[in-house]
Amino acid sequence: MDTIEIEDQYFCIVCSQHLTVSSEEAKCSFCGKKEKADYVCPAGHYVCEACRLAPAANLIKKTCEVSNETDPMGVALLLMKHPAIPVNGSINHLVTAFSLLTALRNSGKVNVGKPELKRIEQRMKNASQGICGSWGVCGCAIAGGVVWSIITGATYLSDKERSMGLRLASTILDAIAQVGGPRCCKMAAFLAIQVSVEYFEQELSISIPISTTPKPCIFNKLNSDCLKDRCPFYGEV
Ligand SMILES: [Zn+2]
Ligand SMILES: [Zn+2]
Repeated sequence: MDTIEIEDQYFCIVCSQHLTVSSEEAKCSFCGKKEKADYVCPAGHYVCEACRLAPAANLIKKTCEVSNETDPMGVALLLMKHPAIPVNGSINHLVTAFSLLTALRNSGKVNVGKPELKRIEQRMKNASQGICGSWGVCGCAIAGGVVWSIITGATYLSDKERSMGLRLASTILDAIAQVGGPRCCKMAAFLAIQVSVEYFEQELSISIPISTTPKPCIFNKLNSDCLKDRCPFYGEV
């Protein structure tokens, strides 16, 4: 087996281009660590060995702790491309919440850091897989509500903030219900991010504009229940 055949087996997690052999230092697209790279992407992407092997929650946490991204959809799509994040499942709830809080933090208008990310992780543990069908509540809507509570300090004793958190979560749920069909955790996450961004702008005058489009959805072939033309993010890839 020659070198070219070996190179052909590796593709960039971020942009799917063929990786090329390297002996230079590169910065990890997820955790930001700089190290001597074995393979790099022609577009400059690199994934360090620790991130290649990281369990999903750990990868989400360390990526969001160092991210400078102000576009929550950009954060979510980067995380979702990693093979540790399955197309469906409760980890997509955590991706939604972390992506929103990371973009809010990086906007400079919300003073949050590692303790808030930790708090989100703890709260999101209760949003388990399949609750959209068994509880009538999607974990991506809970993610919007959790982020709202964290940044406004809302509790069950709050007045206006509590109502507004409920309203954000219910608006997300309504958007997901309007699409219909069996669950798609990517569609739910994209809608939750879109609705939350509009709500933060409208109610708090905090702007975290979405500059990365999730359409056409690159995950459609991985989801055997893909809603195809019923989904606002579906398109030929
Ligand atoms: Zn790449
Ligand atoms: Zn890394």
